[in-house]
Amino acid sequence: MNKAIIGGTGVYGMDGEATTRMVSTRYGDVEVDVVRITGEDIVFLARHGKEHSAPPHLVNYRANMMALKELGIQYVYATAAVGSCNEQFEPGDIVVLKNFIDFTRQRPITFYEGKEGVIHADMSDPYCSDMRRWLLDAARRRALPVRGEAVYVCTEGPRFETAFEIKMFQTLRGDVVGMTNIPEVVLAKELGMCYAAVGIITNWCTGMETEPVTLSEIQGALALNKERVTETFLDVFGNLPDETRCSCRDALIRL
Ligand SMILES: [Zn+2]
Repeated sequence: MNKAIIGGTGVYGMDGEATTRMVSTRYGDVEVDVVRITGEDIVFLARHGKEHSAPPHLVNYRANMMALKELGIQYVYATAAVGSCNEQFEPGDIVVLKNFIDFTRQRPITFYEGKEGVIHADMSDPYCSDMRRWLLDAARRRALPVRGEAVYVCTEGPRFETAFEIKMFQTLRGDVVGMTNIPEVVLAKELGMCYAAVGIITNWCTGMETEPVTLSEIQGALALNKERVTETFLDVFGNLPDETRCSCRDALIRL
């Protein structure tokens, strides 16, 4: 068992024979589903909890990622509901995250608080290059319409952004905006795991259209895409190549 899917907003489970497991970590307990799919156990973790109870700035990211590590997970695919601030990417589109800009402010951001010395995680490839490539190949195979690769801007939330913050993100060449991928992708790297994420675009960012975002628009985009995205993840997991080229297992620099 070395593969996991983290479901973001709107993605709370997978089809299949599931057993629930509690994993205890030094950061807290985490409930996951272990789902039997074509002879293999895949771990499913609902980022915000199964009832969507934890708001983005209070998700226990360290417990979530440490729980996956303790289960022996090496490969993680995640979904993230995002707003688009790039006119090329419309609500309903799917993008693969290729890089990020971090505007979070006060959430725990690392496992390394100094006890182990000073440790820096290399971010030249924040999202695993192998997993991104495999995902794009599987999407082509399955005719999943991936609109492109996107730069993710992470805000602290839980409020949405102002129109002028969005103008700033556009100037910085951000494409999509969300509240959860930091620190998740960073913690995966600190644990030597391969991690990639798909952004499901649910709405235009503030100021990009005249009508305010409605809940039904957001839910519609998620309902349309969640199954095809998880099926594409499972397609990759079922056909994982033996050879890896990424540097995720070796991304820590000790000073
Ligand atoms: Zn990797």
